[in-house]
Amino acid sequence: MAQVQANEAAPHAGPADQHGSMGHLPLPSTVQKRQILWPYLISLLTIHALALLAFIPWLFSWTGVALAVCGLYLFGTLGINLCYHRLLTHRSFACPLWLERFFATIGVCCLQDTPGRWVAIHRFHHQHSDEQEDPHSPLVTFFWGHMGWLLVKNERLNSVATYERYARDVLRDPFYFRLEKHLLWAWVYLAHAVLFYMIGFAIGWAWNGEYMEGVQFGLSLLVWGVFVRTVAVWHITWSVNSVTHMWGYQNYPTGENSRNNFFVGLVSNGEGWHNNHHADQRSAAHGHRWFEFDVTYITIWILQKIGLAWDVIKPSPRLHLHEKPATLGDAIGEP
Ligand SMILES: [Zn+2]
Ligand SMILES: [Zn+2]
Repeated sequence: MAQVQANEAAPHAGPADQHGSMGHLPLPSTVQKRQILWPYLISLLTIHALALLAFIPWLFSWTGVALAVCGLYLFGTLGINLCYHRLLTHRSFACPLWLERFFATIGVCCLQDTPGRWVAIHRFHHQHSDEQEDPHSPLVTFFWGHMGWLLVKNERLNSVATYERYARDVLRDPFYFRLEKHLLWAWVYLAHAVLFYMIGFAIGWAWNGEYMEGVQFGLSLLVWGVFVRTVAVWHITWSVNSVTHMWGYQNYPTGENSRNNFFVGLVSNGEGWHNNHHADQRSAAHGHRWFEFDVTYITIWILQKIGLAWDVIKPSPRLHLHEKPATLGDAIGEP
């Protein structure tokens, strides 16, 4: 069976409708919408509920808030954007194996499944963008594209054949293969959450000399630094699947509904320039115009400058931006 590789930029036939609207696309044929994925639904609701504890004043600390904000970059940008997406899925650059695995472990702490599964689903998305078989097109409904697709069984996403075809290169590495086994990835997430609490507890106790001060500080780091941040990174990643396949402007006619969305571009540190990305999937840089600010690419550029990244793929010279630069109205997604 042919394997889909990162360098298959999948120039795809595409759905005819470039300006698709919500509600006109059927669910993927392999979805069984009555089969709820309970572990996913329960984890999703639980982590959202735990994040809501942030509204309890006793669980507040500025250190926790700072960890949540920095965590968006550390876990979301480095773990998901840079590693899961640009490095493992698209092979937009190369880096030392120890660094790749470090970033991947950080990515696992975002509770967005294993690198192998993430890569397989995302490559499949690129090959079938906004067609019926796209695992998470918002042209079904916005909720489906954002998070609904995670909650019901899609046989294709659980088949060995899909992993074989779309993520064989990743799972060839025993490190990634092991993460799939015995829910190791979920244990990694749990371990990092416990670590946040323990460090906070130790510092709080040592600093104030009171046991309960340690408990309070540890819990504030756990709630803000782990749960609030996990939920924020989830919704940012999901917005790339949902919002940027609905609203924004196109620099390139890609034959599906991908868009560059100013808001998602900024909050996701570069992933929201999604039409550029669909047009040129291997490029490490997703921002192609001067105002398409891409913190993830800046990070890759810095890694390259200090010798920790190489073979960084530049935007293809075959691509031609529209002559007329997009207006700000376009950029913020006005119709
Ligand atoms: Zn997409
Ligand atoms: Zn991609």
